[in-house]
Amino acid sequence: MQSPLPIINLKKGKEKSLERFHPWIFSGAIHPVPSEVKEGDFVEIHTQDKRFIGIGYFQVGSIAVRMLTFQKEEINQDFWKRKLQSSIELRKTANLWDNPETNVFRLVHGEGDGFPGLIVDYYDGCVVFQAHTVGMYQIKEVFLEVLKELLGDRLKAVYDKSAHTLPFKAELETSDAFIYGEEKEEWLVKEYGNTFNINVVSGQKTGFFIDQRENRKLLEQYSKGNKVCNTFCYSGGFSIYSLQAGADLVHSVDSSQGAIDLTDQNVGLNFKEAQNHQSFTADVFNFLNEMPEKYDVIVLDPPAFAKHRKVLKNGLQGYRTINEKAMKNMKSGGVLFTFSCSQVVNQEQFRTVIFSAAARAGRQVQILHQLHQPADHPINIFHPEGEYLKGLVLRVV
Ligand code: SAH
Repeated sequence: MQSPLPIINLKKGKEKSLERFHPWIFSGAIHPVPSEVKEGDFVEIHTQDKRFIGIGYFQVGSIAVRMLTFQKEEINQDFWKRKLQSSIELRKTANLWDNPETNVFRLVHGEGDGFPGLIVDYYDGCVVFQAHTVGMYQIKEVFLEVLKELLGDRLKAVYDKSAHTLPFKAELETSDAFIYGEEKEEWLVKEYGNTFNINVVSGQKTGFFIDQRENRKLLEQYSKGNKVCNTFCYSGGFSIYSLQAGADLVHSVDSSQGAIDLTDQNVGLNFKEAQNHQSFTADVFNFLNEMPEKYDVIVLDPPAFAKHRKVLKNGLQGYRTINEKAMKNMKSGGVLFTFSCSQVVNQEQFRTVIFSAAARAGRQVQILHQLHQPADHPINIFHPEGEYLKGLVLRVV
């Protein structure tokens, strides 16, 4: 039996959002935390009148508690096993488990999977564990046990990549390391039959932008016989789908030389000769001013321009600028795939920014598709903040 957990009491009336299963408690909603409670500790949440609400873990900052369950239950190995099992079931439902075409997917997507603060990505047997909170970092050992149990032979390696995502104030002084299996940095994976080389150690995020899989697939429909420009290309994902679908010409643009090298490497892994592909190490803002071609299709998939609410205004301006530039210089009847992965920019705001870019560019614009994050990045319906990836496919006349 688990010893009784420390209790955090909510201020009067602050249980409302929790009764609708929202997984966050803000610091203003709670009474002073008992002094023995350290960052990451499991705590019970009670209302002012001592009613049990659920169990979560404590965190220093504006989000004071992230909820793990709304039931009275023990937080033990079996608890984590049931949660991970549920995540696996979702990936089976989404046809990502044992899929010969695609062996890279997100296995645990934070709040969306009931693991607030934890990201776990799967690269054909190599699992990257990335904790964004102390609470989740502290379950590393038990999570590893559960992974071994549930993945069995398919688990080849586990890499802990939390050093830069944990809150620096927590002073955990951890470093990234393999915590299980083969210490191999590079893994060749398949996504819809396309091959990608993933470096889990030096790659951005956990190694790959898994969340664009379905949107890359959609690009195939707009590629045949066309001139395509993939900006902010990183590992060349959109470029490879476009080439695969018979684009006449694909240009890939990124300001990072490492990203361009990776794109070229991935193009080489998929095509013996790809003379219709060219990459450019350039700042997209400049590239869009002096585009070497009139493209039929442009992909704009920038990094999060607004990482926090405080920089929202600048972020929105950044989105408006690149979209305006792209629209101004596109072929009439061309197609623009445009994205925002900023959590603080909601769908409405993103669409308004695109509206404003279209007006400034003086182009007629039609929305063909509204895009989102894929099924392995699920959104907990009680936590709409989890909807971070937004995209629009536009016809620009
Ligand atoms: N579309 C990619 C993911 C993009 S990640 C995919 O499907 O995998 C964002 C990329 O933008 C990073 O590779 C980063 O190096 C690049 N980047 C950031 N700012 C840039 C800028 N101003 N100009 C060009 N590239 C930039």
